Amino acid sequence: MVFINGFSFTEATLVKRSLESFFGIGPKVSQKIMAKFHIHPWAKVGALKNATVMDLTAELSTMKIENDARREGKAARYGTACTRTEDKNTDQHSEKAEQVKPSTSDSGIPELINMENELPVLIIGAGISGLLLAQQLRQLKIPFQIFERDSSFTARGSGWGLTLHWSLPALRELLPKHLLSRLRETYVDRDAVERGEDSTFPFFDLTTGVRKGGVPQTGENQRIRVSRERLQNLLATNVDIQWGKSFKKLSDYETAIVAHFEDGTEYRGRILFGCDGNRSRVTAEQAAPIRALDPFFLQGTASANDVSLYTSLLQAPQSIQDVDQLYVYQVCISGSTEKEPFRSVAEKSTRRTNDERIALIRKIAQNFAEPFRQFVSLIPDGDAVKQLDLDDWVLPNDHLAPKRYTLVGDAAHAMTMFLGAGANHAIVDVLELRQMVLSKLEPTASTLLLDIGDYQRSVAIRSLPSVLASRQACLEAHDWAKLTSKSHLLSARQMVVDFDD
Ligand SMILES: Cc1cc2nc3c(=O)[nH]c(=O)nc-3n(C[C@H](O)[C@H](O)[C@H](O)COP(=O)(O)OP(=O)(O)OC[C@H]3O[C@@H](n4cnc5c(N)ncnc54)[C@H](O)[C@@H]3O)c2cc1C
Repeated sequence: MVFINGFSFTEATLVKRSLESFFGIGPKVSQKIMAKFHIHPWAKVGALKNATVMDLTAELSTMKIENDARREGKAARYGTACTRTEDKNTDQHSEKAEQVKPSTSDSGIPELINMENELPVLIIGAGISGLLLAQQLRQLKIPFQIFERDSSFTARGSGWGLTLHWSLPALRELLPKHLLSRLRETYVDRDAVERGEDSTFPFFDLTTGVRKGGVPQTGENQRIRVSRERLQNLLATNVDIQWGKSFKKLSDYETAIVAHFEDGTEYRGRILFGCDGNRSRVTAEQAAPIRALDPFFLQGTASANDVSLYTSLLQAPQSIQDVDQLYVYQVCISGSTEKEPFRSVAEKSTRRTNDERIALIRKIAQNFAEPFRQFVSLIPDGDAVKQLDLDDWVLPNDHLAPKRYTLVGDAAHAMTMFLGAGANHAIVDVLELRQMVLSKLEPTASTLLLDIGDYQRSVAIRSLPSVLASRQACLEAHDWAKLTSKSHLLSARQMVVDFDD
């Protein structure tokens, strides 16, 4: 791609055409500008030297083309980049960048459509679905830009573990080979997996310490426990993320879509995908009683007061010899806002301070059996405790007219985490997006609107039972009296959940 005055062009675009169609400059002025910089009338953008691109950018920035072009509906502001770039979204080592097919007016398609088809795809959110989608676009050589509100993957100071199970075949199909071969890097405890250890996801009565249930071991082929942050890092390989870009709203024009950000910038694209949908460090000795129950993950409910807990290993020391390294765990304690102690938390008009949250957690832990009491009490003073208010929704299954944007992952189907299904759905969303939508993104497409109907219908039908079952599992986690071996919370994890509305 070449950036001229903030607009990106495929290398095959004629300079003359980019000036006249995109910047809204008349033929005489474009001729003059090209002559001034010794540009051949049929020169393509890709043939321009860096210095000429800079000269052109400087020249264009002195002209009031933007507003003029806006009035003609042909251009909108698209960032401020003004340099020529190699396609940063292309792995220079393993895959040589191929040009997007040149769009010419000979194709019989209106020139404006061809120009707009050269705009990048916009992705909002560098989470699991956004980054996986970016990898698909890289493989398909479709230009894209990805925006993330945070300044880094660790900006919020915390992360969590993800169990990937029924989406693993989809993930293996979606990951390029060089990333698939590195998937083990994302495991929370790679050594344990190599030693053949596996989780049974045991469930305990936190009040008595008695084990109530669990699931059979499956092995690495069918289930893995990954760190979300490490998976993001892997998926971000060769992807140029625009950090600190908090999406505000979109304008959906007939010819393009414009994403507006909190910092006042706007980016123009051909289609937009909305993919915008905690930890404690302990020594090996402190982790041992919990690891003895399960090496990766366990959960439970206190039969005395219906408080629920799950603890999930986020990171193990990289090697057994490395005694200085600590185990990193996430502990999630939750309760119904209709029951104490969380009723008082919900009733309070202001959110609790961090110190108050730590005090509450320590107080709750006093009523747990060992080893849960001791383990939860390890929370250090000053550790940042996040308060999450759980919510869920699903994409509508009707009014599926062709559009220039759609939602992916949690943005399309938020669900509580009690069935560990959200990221699995996000991965399958991207697979269906690739099969049903991305295949229609070729530069010579005859329409600017995308038929997202099949994709959205499939996502809605697939995710609705999971959203409802996850809600049910959340309610069950906070109601010991109603927990049975048939409860969703204790069920095997699968994509198609049996759930009647
Ligand atoms: C504690 C916990 C445990 C979980 N465990 C599991 C599990 O075991 N298995 C499972 O399948 N799922 C699990 N989930 C759910 C899983 O994390 C999500 O379903 C998954 O991350 C969804 O991916 P996503 O790409 O849709 O969203 P995310 O991965 O959440 O990514 C969204 C990205 O968008 C960015 N963003 C948000 N707003 C904006 C904005 N306005 N502008 C720009 N960027 C923005 C965010 O910063 C983030 O980087 C768990 C969730 C939690 C909270």
